[in-house]
Amino acid sequence: MKTETSLQWKLVKYLLAFVIALLALLWLFQVVFLDSFYQRFKIEGIEKIGNTLAANLESEKFTEIVAQQARQNDACIRVLNGLGQIQTTNTMGCQLYNLSNAEIAEYVAQAQANGGSYLDIQSEKVVSELPNGNLLLSNKHGSKNLIYFKIVDNTSYFKTIIMVNTHISPINATTETLRTQLGYIALIVVVASLGLAYLMSRKIVKPIVNINQSARQMAEGNYDIVFTGRGYKEITQLNDTMNHTTRKLKEVDQMRRDLIANVSHDLRTPLTMISGYGEMMRDLPGENTPENVQVIIDEAHRLSNLVNDLLDLSKLQENKIELHIQDFDLTQLIQTVLYRYEKFMTQDGFDIQFQPAESVRVNADPDRLGQVLYNFINNAINYSLDDKRIVIRQLVNGNRVRVEVEDHGEGISEDKLNYIWDRYYKVDKTHKRSSAGSGIGLAIVREILELHHAQYGVRSEVGQGSVFWFGLSMTSDSKRVPDCAG
Ligand code: ADP
Repeated sequence: MKTETSLQWKLVKYLLAFVIALLALLWLFQVVFLDSFYQRFKIEGIEKIGNTLAANLESEKFTEIVAQQARQNDACIRVLNGLGQIQTTNTMGCQLYNLSNAEIAEYVAQAQANGGSYLDIQSEKVVSELPNGNLLLSNKHGSKNLIYFKIVDNTSYFKTIIMVNTHISPINATTETLRTQLGYIALIVVVASLGLAYLMSRKIVKPIVNINQSARQMAEGNYDIVFTGRGYKEITQLNDTMNHTTRKLKEVDQMRRDLIANVSHDLRTPLTMISGYGEMMRDLPGENTPENVQVIIDEAHRLSNLVNDLLDLSKLQENKIELHIQDFDLTQLIQTVLYRYEKFMTQDGFDIQFQPAESVRVNADPDRLGQVLYNFINNAINYSLDDKRIVIRQLVNGNRVRVEVEDHGEGISEDKLNYIWDRYYKVDKTHKRSSAGSGIGLAIVREILELHHAQYGVRSEVGQGSVFWFGLSMTSDSKRVPDCAG
C-alpha cells in the first residue's frame, strides 16, 4: 500500500528544497564563478577604454578623456602614432613602459592580424631573494596584467596605437570570506526555514486535523458535533460546509426516523381495522354486514393509496414518470375534481367555493395536475378547523393563470413553511388526523409542478389559514373574459 506523506512533512521538504537551491545558486555565483566574472568584467572594461579613446581621437578634449578613463578604470594608457607619443598617463608600475620596441612591434602585428585589437593576459611576476642571494622570478598568485593594443587607421599616413594596461588583483581572500559567510547564511536559513515550515504546517494542518476528527465522529452517527476548524478562509469555508452538512444529515436522519414511524403507523391502523373486522365477521355471524365489508374494503384502499403514493414519489424523483402533456381545459378539470368532494360539502358541512369567470386552457398533464389539486384540497379539508370554508380561485394575469386553494384553518408558522414541501414532513407530528396523511403529499406536488416548470408556493398565517397556489402559462385559445378574473 502506498503511504501518503503528510502535509506537514511535504511543506518541510519543499521549503528545504527551495532553500538549498537558493544557497547553491548563491554559492555558484559568489564563489565558483566569481573569479571568471571578475576577469570578464575587467576584460570588457579594458576593451571599452580602447573603444572610447578610438572614438575620441580627433576630439579637442582628448587629453582630458584619456586622463578620465585612466582614473575611472585604474588603468595606465599610452597613445602613439607615427610621429611619436601623443598621450600618456601615470607611468608608475605601468607595464607599457617596460615593453621594448620589439615587443611593441610584436603586439601591433598581433593586433593587426586580429582585426585591429589584441589582448594579452599575463601572470604578474614577483622577484624574491633566495637564501643563497640569487633572485627568483615567480608568478604572483592570482595577480594578472592585462595589456591591450588597439590600432586605429585614422589618417592615410599614420596609424594610431592605443595601449592600455590594467591589473587583476587576486580575489582569493574575498572568495574565502564569502564562503565562510555563506556557511553561516546557510545554517541560519536552514534553521529558519525548518522553523517556518513547522509554524506554517501547524497553522495549516491543525485545523484540518481538527475537522478530520470531527468528521470521523460524524461518520459514527454523532450529528451533534460542531466543527471548529478556523484560521484561514479556505478552512473556514470547509468548516462551514461541514457544519451545514451535519445539520442536513441530522434533518435527513430525523426524517428517516419519522418515515419509519409514520409509515408503520399508517400501515398499522388499516391493518388492525382489516384484521379486527375480519375476525369479528368470522366469529359473530350477525356482523357479516355489507357496511362492515365496506370498512375492510375502505381500509384496504387506504393501504394501497399509501403504497401508491410512496411508489409515485420515488418514480417522480428518479424522473421515471413521463408527463402526458396535452392542451386541456383547466377550469373544467377543477370543476371535475370538486364534483368528487360534493359528499364532504353535504355530509361534513364543508363549503367549497369556486366561481371561475372564464374558461382557461393550459398545456399540461391533466391527471398529474388533478393530483396536485386533490392534494391541495385534501390538505385544506384536513387542516381546516371550525371554519370549513374553502375558496378556490382561478386568477388570470396576462397569459398566465394561477390557481389558489385557500382554507381558514390552523395555518403554518413561517419557520415551517420551507419544510412542508419535503418528504415525510409534518408540522405537527401528533396531529389528530395524522393518520389521514403520510407527509408525502406536498413532496409529490412539488415534483409534479417542477416537472411542468410551473411556479408554486404558499402563503400562510398561523390561526388565519393558508393559500396554496400554482401558476402556468395559458394556451392561446383560452376563452378570456376581461376584468372578471378571480
Ligand atoms: P400530509 O399527508 O401530512 O398532509 P403533506 O405533504 O400534504 O402531508 O403536507 C405536509 C405538511 O404540511 C402537513 O403535515 C401539514 O403539517 C402541513 N400542511 C399542508 N397543507 C396544510 C394546510 N392547508 N394547512 C395547514 N398545514 C398544512
